[in-house]
Amino acid sequence: MFRCSEVAERASLLIDGDLGFWSRLNIKLHLAMCRGCRAFVEQMRITDDLTAMAGAMQDPVPSDEIKAALARRQMGSAKKT
Ligand SMILES: [Zn+2]
Repeated sequence: MFRCSEVAERASLLIDGDLGFWSRLNIKLHLAMCRGCRAFVEQMRITDDLTAMAGAMQDPVPSDEIKAALARRQMGSAKKT
């Protein structure tokens, strides 16, 4: 079974799904018994999600285009009603 330091080394690989079956199994076994590493992996996973979200929000979207699209939609629905 892995030691804590080995789990820490592989935590990001685990989250990315880049680990082989046995490494994953060893980490799961360790996490089942080690609260510290469980918290660590959980923390990393949250950080990972936040990073992904931040990346998605930084997508360059011209706000004028959004406004124009919204205005078109409003005009369209106004005509229908
Ligand atoms: Zn541990």
